[in-house]
Amino acid sequence: MKSNLTSIILKSGKDQSLKRFHPWVFSGAIKKIKGSIAEGDVVAVYSNKDEFLGLGHYQVGSIAVRVFSFEQVDPDFDFWKSKLAKAFAMREQLGLAANAGTNVYRLVNAEGDGMPGLIIDYYNGVAVMQMHSIGMYLIREKLAEALKEIMGTALTAVYDKSAKTLPFKADIKPVNGYVLANSPVNQVLEYGLKFNVDWENGQKTGFFIDQRENRRLVEHYAKGRDVLNMFCYTGGFSFFAMRGGANLVHSVDSSARAIDLANENVALNFPGDKRHQTFAVDAFEYMQGIKNKYDLIILDPPAFAKHRGTLPRALQGYKKLNARAFEQIRPGGVVFTFSCSQVVSKEKFREAVFSGAAISGRTVKVLNQLAQPADHPVNIYHPEGEYLKGLVLYVE
Ligand code: SAH
Repeated sequence: MKSNLTSIILKSGKDQSLKRFHPWVFSGAIKKIKGSIAEGDVVAVYSNKDEFLGLGHYQVGSIAVRVFSFEQVDPDFDFWKSKLAKAFAMREQLGLAANAGTNVYRLVNAEGDGMPGLIIDYYNGVAVMQMHSIGMYLIREKLAEALKEIMGTALTAVYDKSAKTLPFKADIKPVNGYVLANSPVNQVLEYGLKFNVDWENGQKTGFFIDQRENRRLVEHYAKGRDVLNMFCYTGGFSFFAMRGGANLVHSVDSSARAIDLANENVALNFPGDKRHQTFAVDAFEYMQGIKNKYDLIILDPPAFAKHRGTLPRALQGYKKLNARAFEQIRPGGVVFTFSCSQVVSKEKFREAVFSGAAISGRTVKVLNQLAQPADHPVNIYHPEGEYLKGLVLYVE
């Protein structure tokens, strides 16, 4: 380990979570900082009894250190390359890395892959990085280079899209752009369906990769049904429903840009198919008049709670949204309902959906319980990483 690292000494008793491999040090747990420190620095964390606990990136904020190693190592190029290689090897094992039908997947899932603050999504040759910590941002070129060495010709470009996800951006002034080469290719395949992805201007890294397996499940439920895809973004769920034999599919999103992309993607996959229609309107408004119109409704809203303070309001939101669907869906209908809010636990989300069902007075049965897919792994010592939860419900 480098001897010139700044050390962070924790208060007595505050070492327990790190000893259980939880990768965060909260600012309130710090007793003393020995040496000079700047945002993004690699620091060594010690207990009050001078025991080494881990190495991590320092940041100003409530999470002061994101630990990336619980061992004393030199966090050089080879260290990061080996971490990235492990993440890639796991995607290879999952059958995602060389797959004729699917060439979009998450390559690095932050804490879930032992790299807190770093997201990398793979889009048919292009890796889109989204950094949530300054420490990761500062080594982005090194990470891109290591990834190129690992993936070879399977990697044609690396795009950095961290301008909106980095904290304290005023000090660093990050600008989105290519770190390695650049690429005009933006068409990907997911289970054989084509999607144009706009990672430069689209939401998140361009596509909601985390819904892949749940979209496929929609395909199985869609036959002969009239489908409403609420919060459709670029239409992911809609096309799986169409391929599954839906009778009609209505896609709703308040973003006109998203609706344009959804229309483009329909033309790619089902040119001239009259079953699909799009509506650029607010979801709650649209759901005021859908009594007995649909028998498959998908509710995949944006995170209603971005932090703990908004949790009660978010839960009310989920309750109301789901109540509207239960009240109006045809008998024998199926509802796919999701929450991607990290601060809303599986239990709290269930309670909100159950309350929504009770308001409607309908008989509702849970058919499937859904989560994020395997390329979005959850570090077992960091349960906060489990953010996507969903239920498939049958409404009698
Ligand atoms: N289901 C999508 C991802 C949904 S992301 C997929 O599989 O790709 C959430 C979407 O909700 C965004 O596209 C956002 O534009 C849309 N949205 C946010 N608030 C909305 C509202 N009040 N009414 C309708 N759409 C909304």
